[in-house]
Amino acid sequence: MKRLLSLLMVLVMLIAVIPTVNAAEIYYDNKWHTYEGNFFELKVNGEELNCEVPPIVFNDYSVVPARDVFEKLGATVNWSAENQKVTVEYGDTKIELIINNKTATKNGKKELMPIPPKLINGKTMIPARYVGETLGFDVKFDSNTDTVSIDAKPTYSTTLSSYTHSKSVNTVTVTFNFTKGVEYSHFLLKEPARIVIDTKDTKQAATLKNNTKTGYDDVTTIRVGQQPAGIRVVIDLAEELKYTVTKSGKKLVVKIGTTATITPAPDEDKNDKEDKEDGKETTDNKTEDSEKIEPPEPVIPDPPSYAPTRTVCIDPGHGGEDPGAIFTDEAGKIWRESEINLSVSLMVRDILEKNNVKVVMTRDTDKTVELTTRAPFANAKQTALFVSIHTNSYMSDSANGIETWGTLEYSATYAGVTDKDLAQNIQSAVISKTKAVNRGIKDTTTLAVIRGSVMPSVLIEVGFISNAAERELMFSDDYRKKLAEGIAEGILKTLDKMGL
Ligand SMILES: [Zn+2]
Repeated sequence: MKRLLSLLMVLVMLIAVIPTVNAAEIYYDNKWHTYEGNFFELKVNGEELNCEVPPIVFNDYSVVPARDVFEKLGATVNWSAENQKVTVEYGDTKIELIINNKTATKNGKKELMPIPPKLINGKTMIPARYVGETLGFDVKFDSNTDTVSIDAKPTYSTTLSSYTHSKSVNTVTVTFNFTKGVEYSHFLLKEPARIVIDTKDTKQAATLKNNTKTGYDDVTTIRVGQQPAGIRVVIDLAEELKYTVTKSGKKLVVKIGTTATITPAPDEDKNDKEDKEDGKETTDNKTEDSEKIEPPEPVIPDPPSYAPTRTVCIDPGHGGEDPGAIFTDEAGKIWRESEINLSVSLMVRDILEKNNVKVVMTRDTDKTVELTTRAPFANAKQTALFVSIHTNSYMSDSANGIETWGTLEYSATYAGVTDKDLAQNIQSAVISKTKAVNRGIKDTTTLAVIRGSVMPSVLIEVGFISNAAERELMFSDDYRKKLAEGIAEGILKTLDKMGL
C-alpha cells in the first residue's frame, strides 16, 4: 500500500510540473482528500530537497516532512507511533508535537500553532514556520517560485556589544566595542551625508540600541542594523566631514573632524601602525583632498569697544541634552563631561566672587545651552574675559593631561592682554596645582565659543574622561578643587595685568 502511495506521489509531482493540473489525491485523517493547492519546492540550507511528500499548504500554512527537513538542519527528530508524537530537538530547544493537535510543547511550556501536524501519506508533516522559527532557523516562502526555504542562520564570530560617542575640541569620536577583532570596510555617502561602515561576520548584542541621537549638530545619529553578512553602521552627518576609521584591538574607532583638522593626540602613531598591520586604509581617500573644509582666512579682530570691568564669563561646556564626552565603564556606569564641566565651573565662580570678581555663567545648572548662543551671551554681558571649561576624550585610554586653547596668533589685544596671555596664565596655574601632564597651549581659529567672543577667550580641557586614572580624579571633589583654583588663579593674574 505504502509503495503504491509513493508511486502515486511521484506521479503527482510529475503532473504538478504541468501548470494546469495541480490537484492530487492525498491521504490523511483516515481518508483521501483532493489537494488543490500548489506543490512547493523545498530548499534546506540552499539545497533543493526532494522528499517523498513535498510541502503541503493548508490555509496558507505549510507543513513539511519532519525527519527529512530537520535532520538535515542538524536537529534530532524522534517519532512515537504509540503516542502519535514527534519530538524535534535542536540546541537548547525541544519541541513536542502531537498529530492533529494544535498545541505544541516548547521546553515544557504549551504553545498554540496555527495548524496541527498531520500524518500525510504515512509521513509526519509538521508546521514549517512554527517549528523552524522556534528552533532559530530562517523560514521563507517565495510564492513566485513556489519554494519553501529553511536555513540555519549564519553564526557570527564576533558581537557588537556596545558603542559610545564623545565630542572633543575638533572631533566627534564614536567607539564600537566588539567581543573579538573585526573586519570592516567604509565609505561616505552624500545627500544626506553619512558614513557607512560594513563589518564582516558580526552580530549585534540583543540589548543594543539600533538608533542613538548624539545631541550634536554635526554628527547627529548613530544607526546599527543587522545584515546577512554582518552589521552595517551608519553615522548621519549634517554635512560631509572628514573622518578616519581605525581598529584598535576589539574596538572600531571612528573619528569625525568637525572642522578642517583632526587634532592628533600623542598616541595616534601607535593606532596607525596597528591599522597598517591589518592591511586597512586609515583615511578615506575620497574625502581627503577634495572635501577639505578650509577655515576662513584669519584676521586680527578689533578689541571690544566697551571699557573693561572686573567681570568674567565662565562657560561650562555642554549640559542638559548634550552630555559632551561620555564614558561607560565596565559596570555600565556612565560618566559625563557636562557634569565635570559644571562642577569645576561653579567652584571657579565661587573663588572669583570671593576675590570681588563679577561672574556671569552661560549655565549654572544641568541644562541645554546652544553652542552658538554662548559667545554672544558673553559679548552682551560685556565681560573682560571668557573661559570655557571642557573635558577631553580620546579613542585610546593612554592620552591624558590638560591643554588650553585660544586664538594665539590672531588675537586682539584688550587692556594689554591677548588670548595667549590668558591661556598661558591659566595653563601654568592649573598644571602647578594639579601636577597633571602639561599638553600646553594650543592655537585655534575655529572653535565657536572662542571665535565668537570679542574679549580674550580660552577653552580649557581639564583632563581626559577616556583615561582611567584621570577620570577617577575628575570625579573627586579634591581634584576638581585643584582644577578650579588653578583656573581662578590664571584669571585673577590676567585681570591684574589688565589693571582691573
Ligand atoms: Zn566638551
